[in-house]
Amino acid sequence: MKAVVYKGPRRVAVEEVPDPAIQAPTDAVVRITTTNICGSDLHMYEGRTGVEQGKVLGHENMGVVEAVGDAVGRVKVGDRVSVPFNIACGTCRNCLNGWTSFCLRTNPTEGVDGAAYGYANMGPYDGGQAEYLRVPYADVNLLELPPGTEHENDFAMLSDIFPTGWHGTELAGMRPGDRRRSATRRTTPRARSTPSWCWTTSCRWSGPRAGSASSACTCRRTPGPPTRPPNRGGSASTTARFSRRGSAWAPDSARSCATTGSCAT
Ligand SMILES: [Zn+2]
Ligand SMILES: [Zn+2]
Repeated sequence: MKAVVYKGPRRVAVEEVPDPAIQAPTDAVVRITTTNICGSDLHMYEGRTGVEQGKVLGHENMGVVEAVGDAVGRVKVGDRVSVPFNIACGTCRNCLNGWTSFCLRTNPTEGVDGAAYGYANMGPYDGGQAEYLRVPYADVNLLELPPGTEHENDFAMLSDIFPTGWHGTELAGMRPGDRRRSATRRTTPRARSTPSWCWTTSCRWSGPRAGSASSACTCRRTPGPPTRPPNRGGSASTTARFSRRGSAWAPDSARSCATTGSCAT
């Protein structure tokens, strides 16, 4: 099949790659009908990550189920589906608690939780900027859509764009009718279940894990245009630690990443 392959900083190519196949009984293969180029893809394209050459990009995918493994019961061949960008098992501790983006099973890298299609450090999964995509744990990771071809562009937003915007709005405490100049540079944390000032794409919230009393938010700053050689790890990062206080997470230090400005991209 044809797929968009990462070749190095600022170099991608449409190449012939092996067709994906059912590798586990819980897999499905989806024929891609629409896929997006995400702003997050630019982190890899511009050489700001350690993504390996040969990776097929694309985590905002939808299509029609082409094949399913023997253990797939809910999803059927021919179903029109959205493919949420996170890959979750559905049965680990974090998945059962609703934190499917921090699935403990789908990323084989020690110490890293959570997986995604076609993305740096998110597991060995190719993306869907391709003719076909392998989807692990298909019954968990596929969202069935109405059959047909209507509203294709609208449904394509369901894999990342719309839920990411929704999640950010929730974290910022926005409600219908609110007017704010910027929801991304809060300097005063609002007491919510997760810190509200670190959800820019340059920050990674490494928790919370189920039952833990503390966690951390690491914000990565990549200065200037990517003129440095790729993959040297030249970006600066700041880690702010948080502890649970009552039902909310709060920073252990007043110097949060927001107040030091380290969240800036
Ligand atoms: Zn995306
Ligand atoms: Zn899981």
